Amino acid sequence: MKLYDFKQDDKLNDLRDMMGADSFGNFELFDPQRHLSWQERKALSGQWVNVTSASLHAYGDHTLAYKNSHVFSITEQHFHFSLCDELKKRISQGRLANTQVTLNDSLLQGRMVCEYCLHAVSYQGYDAYRRRHEEYNQRIIKKFKFSDYLQSKYKDAT
Ligand SMILES: [Zn+2]
Repeated sequence: MKLYDFKQDDKLNDLRDMMGADSFGNFELFDPQRHLSWQERKALSGQWVNVTSASLHAYGDHTLAYKNSHVFSITEQHFHFSLCDELKKRISQGRLANTQVTLNDSLLQGRMVCEYCLHAVSYQGYDAYRRRHEEYNQRIIKKFKFSDYLQSKYKDAT
C-alpha cells in the first residue's frame, strides 16, 4: 500500500502559501486524554473547574495533577496540592466523585493548606501523624506557599 503524501497535495500547499507557512512544523501529538487543551488551561487559570476525581493523578513527587498540569483542589476548609491521604480517602469512600480544581492560586485565599498534603511531599519534614511536633507543624501550615514550594524544588534540582 502506498501512503498518500500530503506534502505533495496542491490544495494543502496553496493553503500553506496563504498562511505564509514556509516549513512543516514539528508537532507533539496532542492527546486530549493526557494534555490540557488551550481552552482547558485558560479555564483552569481563571476559575474552579469540575472534573471527575478518577481523572486526577499524582506526579512522582506526589503533587496533584490533572492531565499534564499541577492543579489545586479544595475540600471544606482546606486546599490540596497533593494527592494526599485525605483526598485518597474521600475518593476511595466514594465521597468525592467530582472535585473542583484550578491553577489559580488566588482562589485559595481564606483556606488553609491541607496538612496531609504537606505530609505527602514531606514538606520540611512535616509529619501529619506525629502530634508531638504540633507547634512546629502549625508554624509550617501558616507559612506555606505553594509557589515557594515549587521554587525551592526547582532550585534543589539545578
Ligand atoms: Zn490534602
